[in-house]
Amino acid sequence: MSFGKLKSARKGKEIHSFVKPESVSGFSDTMKADTSPGPLPSQSPMQINAAAPKNSHDTMVTDEQAVVQHSPLSQASEEQAPPRTQEHQSPTNPTPVKTRESTNSVNLHGCHTDLPSFLEIRESSRHGRGLYAKTALSAGEIILSIIPHVFVLSTPNLEYYCSACAAPAATAGLKRCPKCKTVRYCNSDCQNRDWAWHRRECNALQKWAASAPSSDVAIPGEPVRCLGRIMWGSQKEGLDSVWAQEIRMMHSNRNSLQPSAFGSHTHLAHSVVRYLGVSSPQELEPYGLKSAGDLVDLISRFTTNTFTLTTPALTPIGICVSPTVALANHSCDPNAALVFPRADGGSRVKEPLLSLVALRNVAPGKEIRISYVDTTLPNRLRQNELKEVYSFSCQCKLCCRTTAADPREALWCPKSCGGICPYPTEESGDRATHCVKCNAQVGDVGAVLDALRVGQEALDKASSLQSKDRVKARQLTTNITPILTSAGVTPSSHPLLALTRLHKELLIDSLSSSSPTQETLDEAVRTAARYTAGLQALLPKGHPVRAVALGELGKLLAVDEPAPTSASDYAGAEKFPPSGPPRLKLAYESFVKAHEELLIGFGKKSGGGLLGAEIREAIMRLEKELGIWTTGIRNVLEDTLVSAQRVGPPSQ
Ligand SMILES: [Zn+2]
Ligand SMILES: [Zn+2]
Ligand SMILES: [Zn+2]
Ligand SMILES: [Zn+2]
Repeated sequence: MSFGKLKSARKGKEIHSFVKPESVSGFSDTMKADTSPGPLPSQSPMQINAAAPKNSHDTMVTDEQAVVQHSPLSQASEEQAPPRTQEHQSPTNPTPVKTRESTNSVNLHGCHTDLPSFLEIRESSRHGRGLYAKTALSAGEIILSIIPHVFVLSTPNLEYYCSACAAPAATAGLKRCPKCKTVRYCNSDCQNRDWAWHRRECNALQKWAASAPSSDVAIPGEPVRCLGRIMWGSQKEGLDSVWAQEIRMMHSNRNSLQPSAFGSHTHLAHSVVRYLGVSSPQELEPYGLKSAGDLVDLISRFTTNTFTLTTPALTPIGICVSPTVALANHSCDPNAALVFPRADGGSRVKEPLLSLVALRNVAPGKEIRISYVDTTLPNRLRQNELKEVYSFSCQCKLCCRTTAADPREALWCPKSCGGICPYPTEESGDRATHCVKCNAQVGDVGAVLDALRVGQEALDKASSLQSKDRVKARQLTTNITPILTSAGVTPSSHPLLALTRLHKELLIDSLSSSSPTQETLDEAVRTAARYTAGLQALLPKGHPVRAVALGELGKLLAVDEPAPTSASDYAGAEKFPPSGPPRLKLAYESFVKAHEELLIGFGKKSGGGLLGAEIREAIMRLEKELGIWTTGIRNVLEDTLVSAQRVGPPSQ
């Protein structure tokens, strides 16, 4: 196993990545990206204000960057407040809203025909629309497989992935569009297939670049490019087409928009107008928008219904919109997840294929729910994000749990009984916290609070440094970890888990950029093991994030050790990770576990996706290698025995 392989999927997010560092190795439910729609011309052709009532032309331009949350999104939340009413529905929504308490089927008007027969869309007055199972589903079952309506790569990834099928660049590289010099393709097949979509985009990209004040903003951010594709797509497919109707049917939360989002929505609207070359509201009509207010609605629908496009190893590479998948509502303890397994390998025409996979068995009549946010985060942080981006507060079981301690915010029992203690809070001041199992009291609450504060600061700092100064970022994560662990923070707790993930990423990056030392490699293995342990305390078996982390741990353990090992190095060694065959055995065990979980998280039918196939190969390779080791040792022993017999026992 080489570092090249470990590294290959990461290339895209190097240096100028817009991807938030904490989402780096996360699963799509952790993913959001901060993107800028690019600089605005000094004189905007249209005045748009996200905060204003419909059709108002008041201006409210801020320099704030547009923040688009790319999470699996949908129309409503689990048991959210406030309840959805008719006014929360998009005004363009052709489906009548029922106000009865119980759920009832929705007339689809010919839309969402890609829904399999065992699923149905139901609507409740509390949760809005949602996806429901009509028959029993089992863990690892692929519930839906859909090519998104549109997808775009994030700007740093345009160079490394195909803009038509999202495949990574082969060794031969990608073919660049000679006109805009921005998008790249596997080959001319991919290029030709995308041309109907790219034709107008190509012109817009060229114009944008020509008027850009500097080279680093010569390409509009992915929200702008994605909205461009949606608007041109509606025209291309026809405003009355199912395609365009499905986009219009997506939920808009413009009426419950948080004031903090006004600026970003406004900025995004201005950028889109500039990108499309529109100079008056009338010019929006060909796109099915009758006013600037309609554009703001579209943007609201877009922001709350955009998913992260990822590689099969969950590295975020772009964003996409799929109205059918967007029907799935949120839970912090979801029974399904979204992944891009890329199983078939062969057919580029059917990629990127978005799969909705059942993470556990689902009974008939139950709702399919995914998570819009990173579920490893504590309650408070999840709620903030849900409120900010999706305008609801979640009241799922996990959010309402009041008993015991949350493993996301816990300390080990000071008497090491195996129990945990909830975090002390700033509000409770010096009030003690106790072990939930043996009631032992945590001694120095002030020191714990200090450690947590410093930990959060270090996480923020290191995250922002990750793309600019990795050495410094790594120093930070290296120094802060022992402070948190000695304060008793458990590996699954925030911010230790996030710091561990970041530290692991930084170590892997440093391993791939120089020839690794045994020490760095071992440190990477230990960090990956701590990260996996933390995840296992929070996420169910088969969760894609857990499965990928296990696979990564296996890969790190299987990397050739730089220092040649002699028999004495691993004989009875108690250090972790061990060397030689015991290390390979651990790698093997991690791979086997990872494979089992990948079959759930990425779907049995897809064989765990591309990553599942890769891990399966690694398992076979290691079986051979470990077999050779065993035979090798047996041969050595037999040789020793034979030579000992030949020499014969010492004579008296
Ligand atoms: Zn391609
Ligand atoms: Zn082009
Ligand atoms: Zn919740
Ligand atoms: Zn205890």
